[in-house]
Amino acid sequence: MFKKVHLRLTLLCAGSTATIMIIMSLCYLYVSERSLYRNQFQAFENDINTITTNLEHQTVISMEWLSKMESQGNYLFFVVDNGIPFLYNQLSDSGEAASKNKLLEEFLDSSQSKISASHYAYTFTSPSTGTSYIAGVINMGKASSLEIIILFSLEPLKSQILEQRFRFTLIDIAAVIMLTAFAWIFTGRLLKPIIENQQKQIQFVAAASHELRTPLAVILSTEECCQNAPQEKLSGFLKTIHNEALHMSALVDDMLTLSGSDSHHFSINMQPVEIDTLIINSYESFEPLAKEKFITLSVNLPENPLPTCSADSQRISQVIAILIQNAISYTPEYGKIELSLFYKKNHFHISVTDNGIGISDEDKKKIFDRFYRVEKSRSSKEHFGLGLSIAYEIVQAHGGSISVTDADGGGSIFTIIL
Ligand code: ADP
Repeated sequence: MFKKVHLRLTLLCAGSTATIMIIMSLCYLYVSERSLYRNQFQAFENDINTITTNLEHQTVISMEWLSKMESQGNYLFFVVDNGIPFLYNQLSDSGEAASKNKLLEEFLDSSQSKISASHYAYTFTSPSTGTSYIAGVINMGKASSLEIIILFSLEPLKSQILEQRFRFTLIDIAAVIMLTAFAWIFTGRLLKPIIENQQKQIQFVAAASHELRTPLAVILSTEECCQNAPQEKLSGFLKTIHNEALHMSALVDDMLTLSGSDSHHFSINMQPVEIDTLIINSYESFEPLAKEKFITLSVNLPENPLPTCSADSQRISQVIAILIQNAISYTPEYGKIELSLFYKKNHFHISVTDNGIGISDEDKKKIFDRFYRVEKSRSSKEHFGLGLSIAYEIVQAHGGSISVTDADGGGSIFTIIL
């Protein structure tokens, strides 16, 4: 499912960006081509103006001058008299231009001592070859029927435009490829946390159903037994049902706490809290339980008075309770558990140290995961593998951190920093 979404998002991102880019490229090309044509036309007009001015100031127009102008400006010159091509056209390439120049000079000399020229320019396409030109016609004045036609081929400009279009197409193709690759990576990164979250949700639901199935099965089978059981055994069965129901209720409470944190409905009521008092309270609550297991529970608090800490006292007490409960569960009889607190650089460090079975490095990475238990068989029925994940979420919601390290001589140290 996510593969399809990934692909669609990539196409959407890359497609929309590429469309905008291509439209902008086309607009640029349009504006650029128009200005190239305009500039060319302008240059042609300027040239023709210069030629006209030159012609006006010359008493004689030499064939040489025309040929020079022709070769300099890539122009084609035609001299026309009354619509009939003049000799220059036939002779310009023949090598006899020099001898025949005289004729044109004489002609111009005799007809007009000073040329008063006017001109006009327009585009013209040869019907036979399809080649486009800018054409300019210089009229040699009212007294003369002589016209000079100047053609400038637009083919070099056209090939320059074609080259520009080709270059833009290549650039656009490369950009589209890069955009698609970028969109693929970018959307992949965007989707990654969503995919991970969904996988976690699936695992959570699967693990929760699995955990709930066991007490449910016990309740159902015990209820069946109740139907045919003699009176004296009935209270035992009912007690089992009650215990399993309590077990399920505790599990559902834990799951609700975690789902509340997932949906950010985790209520944290921050208030100034005396952390040392909180630790003493926790110690007093768990001392009887520790005694039952012949475990020595001790407290190590700083002697100097501490500032208050902004925290949710109930939630932090819940975290400390989880850690002490775990320490008691995973520490053998006659073991030791120490609660300690120290304050350094504006941070409260709360530690629960035990000399119990300890946690391997491999398991240290996973114990904060939901439903993770190092050895399912080793844990008692009250352990669902949710305690540390709840502790983790609460500490995170406080902006703090929780970590585990090995204790000297075996056992574990869980440290909360607030
Ligand atoms: P559980 O409800 O099973 O204790 P937790 O999330 O609190 O779940 O703990 C996860 C696992 O981490 C436990 O199943 C246990 O294997 C391990 N663990 C937690 N605390 C300790 C400890 N103090 N010493 C050794 N192992 C521990």
